[in-house]
Amino acid sequence: MPYVHDTLEALRKSSPAQTEFYQAAEEVLECLRPLFERSPHYLDHNIIERIVEPERQIMFRICWTDDAGKVQVNKGYRIQFNSALGPYKGGLRFHPSVTSGTIKFLGFEQIFKNALTGLPIGGGKGGSDFDPKGRSDGEIMRFCQAFMSELYRHIGPTTDVPAGDIGVGAREIGFLYGQYKRLTGRYEGVLTGKSLNWGGSIGRKEATGYGAVYFAENMLAARGETLAGKTCLVSGAGNVAIYTIEKLVELGAIPVSCSDSRGTLHDPRGIDLALLRELKEVQRTSLEAYLAQHPEAHYIPAGDYPADGHAVWRLEGEVAFPCATQNELTEADAETLLGNGVTCISEGANMPSTAAAVERFLAAKIAYGPGKAANAGGVATSQLEMAQNSSMEQWPLEKVDAKLKAIMANIHRQCAETAAEFDDPTNLVLGANIAGFRKVADAMIEQGVC
Ligand code: NDP
Repeated sequence: MPYVHDTLEALRKSSPAQTEFYQAAEEVLECLRPLFERSPHYLDHNIIERIVEPERQIMFRICWTDDAGKVQVNKGYRIQFNSALGPYKGGLRFHPSVTSGTIKFLGFEQIFKNALTGLPIGGGKGGSDFDPKGRSDGEIMRFCQAFMSELYRHIGPTTDVPAGDIGVGAREIGFLYGQYKRLTGRYEGVLTGKSLNWGGSIGRKEATGYGAVYFAENMLAARGETLAGKTCLVSGAGNVAIYTIEKLVELGAIPVSCSDSRGTLHDPRGIDLALLRELKEVQRTSLEAYLAQHPEAHYIPAGDYPADGHAVWRLEGEVAFPCATQNELTEADAETLLGNGVTCISEGANMPSTAAAVERFLAAKIAYGPGKAANAGGVATSQLEMAQNSSMEQWPLEKVDAKLKAIMANIHRQCAETAAEFDDPTNLVLGANIAGFRKVADAMIEQGVC
């Protein structure tokens, strides 16, 4: 279909050097081919060209003072991609690798993910190339205050509600919220992932990881299997990885790995969750410190990664949960995982598998849950936080978790039913992209040209 090809070519020309965004856009547009053949009215409304173009992109300078009194300068971004289904919703990422292309790919993915939740939220994303590593609490606070001093004029509880992502957790959300309140004089649900003491939702910090595990449970149940007793490989050691591991342990699975940018930890008897949390959430230190209490575990420094793959994906396991970052699982890793007998992959991170790795998983017809479906539990629970804020309530964990479970089951059902409708029943990538797109595109058509 020339339309898909032409749109991708036009994107490469009009938005140069945004490779991650092209990767995300190409996957979605390729999946939509069979839909356009059956429903050409989407082309008549020019939905593809409209949906790949963000409604608004904000770029700004952030100046702040470090502990030595030196003025530092960073770049800040907020992309308000699509508001057909509701206020823009999506996290903020603070990491030195962040560029406008990173934020654009994340914002684009967020549109379809948010649509799959069935909740009234549009797609957005933001962040900065600021590196929080090694910075004092005072420096983090001053940076967050400077970031919000520009961002506050573009967001609001019914317009755009940011949350956390890599490098942005409860501490950063607290500093960002404090500055928003100081500048506007309003105490309102403008951010999610807030502390439970002042407007946060019980279950939000656990939601992305728990949701990725619930999604795996749904995929396995469709094949007559469960997670109990299965050895699981997890990458990452941040918010998503930790709560993936926690839920796996609760369900009787055996998570044996985690990783960070410095290396991979392998504990074949199962990761000691309390120690992992202490090292990562409290001490914010290297995974290597785990060995002091568990000398029988193995630590593989990142420098020792084989050139043709990542250490974490070379370990023996049956189910894999990539929970670190984009493109952390390559074609070589996919081959290794399949060769080792992995039959289920549930992506906690956004686009962690390269396009070639995804091709391998789909060809092997294993249970493969793409990030935009499998990790949607985080944003879904953020929307539940918004609902609690607007009604001035706080729901108990049982209520939030029951809703999360139901949302994840519903996302899996939509993906599987849509994949079957398009004659490719095991292809949840196809199912997720078509199901998400249809909701957004139908809303855009109903709302007219705007
Ligand atoms: P965190 O900052 O809490 O943790 C990220 C983890 O991944 C850290 O262990 C980090 O190691 C590791 N990591 C990051 N970049 C790299 C890299 N280039 N190479 C190796 N390891 C890396 O982030 P989250 O857990 O919140 O996010 C993880 C993923 O999940 C991201 O893709 C995010 O977009 C996605 N996601 C998060 C949601 C949420 O609710 N938080 C919701 C949906 C998706 P180190 O500390 O050494 O940098």
